[in-house]
Amino acid sequence: MNDTHIIVIGGGFAGVAAARKLRARGATVTLLDARASLGGRAHSDVLDGVSVDAGAQLITSSFTRTVGMLATPLHRVAVGDAVLRDGARLPLRFGSVRSLLAFSGLTALEKVRLATHLLPALARYRHALDASGAHLPSAWDGESARDYVERHIGANAADTLVEPPCNGFYGLCADHVSLAFFLTLGRYGSDGDVLAPAFGWSTALDAVLMDTEVVRGARVVSLDYAAHDRRRSVTAHCAGGRTWHGDAAIIATGPRAAAALLSAHRAPDDALITWLTTVPMRSTFTLALVVDAATPRDAVAIYRDVREARNVSACVMHNAKFADVARPRDVVLGWPTPAAVDALRDASAEHIATAMLPEMETLVPALRGHVTRARVYRYDEGSPIAFPGFARDRARARMLADSLDLPVGLAGDYLTTPLIEGAVASGERAAAQLADRLSRR
Ligand SMILES: Cc1cc2nc3c(=O)[nH]c(=O)nc-3n(C[C@H](O)[C@H](O)[C@H](O)COP(=O)(O)OP(=O)(O)OC[C@H]3O[C@@H](n4cnc5c(N)ncnc54)[C@H](O)[C@@H]3O)c2cc1C
Repeated sequence: MNDTHIIVIGGGFAGVAAARKLRARGATVTLLDARASLGGRAHSDVLDGVSVDAGAQLITSSFTRTVGMLATPLHRVAVGDAVLRDGARLPLRFGSVRSLLAFSGLTALEKVRLATHLLPALARYRHALDASGAHLPSAWDGESARDYVERHIGANAADTLVEPPCNGFYGLCADHVSLAFFLTLGRYGSDGDVLAPAFGWSTALDAVLMDTEVVRGARVVSLDYAAHDRRRSVTAHCAGGRTWHGDAAIIATGPRAAAALLSAHRAPDDALITWLTTVPMRSTFTLALVVDAATPRDAVAIYRDVREARNVSACVMHNAKFADVARPRDVVLGWPTPAAVDALRDASAEHIATAMLPEMETLVPALRGHVTRARVYRYDEGSPIAFPGFARDRARARMLADSLDLPVGLAGDYLTTPLIEGAVASGERAAAQLADRLSRR
């Protein structure tokens, strides 16, 4: 692909992975992103001098595509999580089998059922539970994580183990989440070390694209196609009037933005456009609080028991990821419950902070009287919902995307699984497909 220039639209993990793969195949690449920093839903920011990951927090060493892509070393997170129930902090490392069996929030009977039902299945299908979503067992995909765990282990186990990660990071109740996706979370959580970027995901992604042209603050508003000498080309038009030309493009935005960029060249009832505009998404937000006091470093995430939570599902103490590094201030992040996502999504930052602060103080008492600044990060297009049946739906979408008769590939976690590793898998796949198509023309 030495004479080929590709435009990548979107600088989240999917776009960066695609750009890197295309560079490795010899293409020159220009990556355009609407925001001031790379990372998308995993972008980082600096708040009062403290680097903070505002969306995605952690990966594990078994995210092999992601770890293989990142040029900078990642920090091993030494501490686990906790669940706050009846005022007591119950330590737990989500995903760790040993920690689950020692966890005081489950009854002895639930542990026996866990050991006889879920854990053997996890071990048996470990390789199928891949973030690409391509091999997820269909029997598990068809049912919800909540239904399965409630039926086979118990309602308390569903409340304690299944709801917190679904509520906290996806703003979803677990009866709207595929068992296959939940087990994929479990597979990665139980496999390897937990890792965080030392200086934020955006900085880590900058390092991946050192030798690539990256244009930040470039929102692509339309794409044009032209054909010369049987060779097709694309022109990306950005807000503000700037344009970029290339032989082909990868659209690595969310699905709605991708539909907007493709729709001028497709029939209104085109199956791919219909899918992109209707695939279920869940918008969410993060409340970030800067704190001028030491916060506990014995757990990274504290989840509120789902039976007690009203507005707040979980808090992350940013510094606890780097427990061995002294930092003068901390940022504590809070995520809303599914009900609070609906109630507060369009509220002002002040209203959100007022609604969430009291419960965040219950989870992290060190916050009281020490918050110096609050900031809300919104993910308006949201995260794709891994609903029961999603894996089959995504397989169909990948097929539709592969059959596009334009010099364009699609990438994004909405085509795989809503994880950083899922985004990287989709970016690498889109780059390989596009490179193969271009080499045949
Ligand atoms: C609160 C939260 C917590 C999470 N926690 C974790 C976690 O701990 N671990 C984990 O693995 N995953 C986590 N995830 C999921 C993870 O963040 C995503 O799966 C992943 O970041 C998606 O990457 P992406 O590249 O597919 O999409 P995005 O990150 O959404 O990237 C899309 C990019 O396209 C750009 N863009 C959009 N439209 C245009 C346009 N018209 N022109 C130019 N650019 C455009 C956007 O600015 C953005 O940078 C979390 C998600 C959320 C919301």
